Amino acid sequence: MGEVGEDPRWDAFIPFAGYLFKTFPLSHTKAQLQHVNKHGLLYTWQGSDPTLKPTLLMAHQDVVPVPGSTVPQWTHPPFSGFYDGTFVWGRGSSDCKNQLIAIMEAVELLLEAGFKPKRTIILSFGFDEEISGVRGAQQLSKHLTEQYGQNSMAVIIDEGAPITKAWGSVFATPGVAEKGYVDVDIVVRMPGGHSSIPPAHNGIGVAAELITLIEANAYEPYLANENPYLGLLQCGAEHAPSFPRKLKHLLHKRRPSCKKHDALALEASKESLTIKYLMTTSVAVDLISGGVKTNALPERTSFTVNHRINVGSNIASILSHITDLASQIATKYNLTLHAFNGTETPSSITLSHRKTALEPAPVTPTVIDPKAPSAYSVLAGTTRALYGEDVLVAPGIMTGNTDTRYYWDLSENIFRFAPGWDKEQEGLGSIHTVDERISVQAHMDATRWFVKFLRNLDEVDL
Ligand SMILES: [Zn+2]
Repeated sequence: MGEVGEDPRWDAFIPFAGYLFKTFPLSHTKAQLQHVNKHGLLYTWQGSDPTLKPTLLMAHQDVVPVPGSTVPQWTHPPFSGFYDGTFVWGRGSSDCKNQLIAIMEAVELLLEAGFKPKRTIILSFGFDEEISGVRGAQQLSKHLTEQYGQNSMAVIIDEGAPITKAWGSVFATPGVAEKGYVDVDIVVRMPGGHSSIPPAHNGIGVAAELITLIEANAYEPYLANENPYLGLLQCGAEHAPSFPRKLKHLLHKRRPSCKKHDALALEASKESLTIKYLMTTSVAVDLISGGVKTNALPERTSFTVNHRINVGSNIASILSHITDLASQIATKYNLTLHAFNGTETPSSITLSHRKTALEPAPVTPTVIDPKAPSAYSVLAGTTRALYGEDVLVAPGIMTGNTDTRYYWDLSENIFRFAPGWDKEQEGLGSIHTVDERISVQAHMDATRWFVKFLRNLDEVDL
């Protein structure tokens, strides 16, 4: 995409803002609306007590594309918004127009009911979350930090984990942490020449050997004390009827100082790859290129390794691990190693990382103390008030990043949570693929949740 104001494709958000204006008239009279970087929507509903920190609710307006070739596979056309009595179908229906509309509906309903908040309510809607949020969320957060300062929000809610079943119970697992991210580019430079008289190993062979070494030294599962999945396991062991006995046993035996061969994490990881990567740094070689002709030896071979960094680890330790591996291969083939120093020479292995690198997110506190309400206890209480006390609330972790990556400085209480739940239609969101849809019952409950949450937050001292 080009820049806002230059690339006409951004103009798609103008009629959407118009739709919100038409659909939520009270919100547009009583709340102040600011446009940040043209399409970022920032609503402020001023509370009566300026000493209370505001509540910040987030969602994004943009959606991922629908590839033309997949349109015929859709049960109902992807941009029809077709309602069949149970679901609304279409791209964005569950990621994340539903959250945005539920927030607007909640505010509109509270205004209709004559609610007057003590605590200011801020709505912040980005417009490029699916391509990293640089133009939307990053600008919105800059604006908010300038206006309110650091650590100025009582709580932030953004899109995130749905309510799901596990171990015979129902769990709401608001995301209180996110894994980190780093892409490492590796270049192997070796002498070229005619392929009829090749050396035993050329650049592609050496790159292949390094890739094999990287895969053979992948990261082990490890549960840091602050990893929210540990909290989820503890909650499951305590309350879920079919929690595995072996896991329970390992939980009791766990030593908080254990760093190597974490038996609990290894056992918990057997559940599925999805679970494993909630407590493991992932490493995947995703791009490769080298060579130009079948009769010429490759002079420059490059590949890229994607990492999603485990909670408790950091970018520096990932870079140091891959440097160790590259140095073994460099020594073996008498190549110079340039590790993250910005140089590339003939006969060398060069490592660099991309600017998109991101540390794991700070972990939101999830302590529940009956004497001192916390943002987490209000979230948990609101959820159980709405769905019943059979729903367990436990900390969750996200493997991807939401727009909240730009909001870390605004609050320590960040939750990535999809509060709408339809127990009959669970898991049928089809986010980012064919037949994306939202259960209208889940959507109505999301609206109810936001109404209750905003009212509850107004009653507590945070
Ligand atoms: Zn989303």
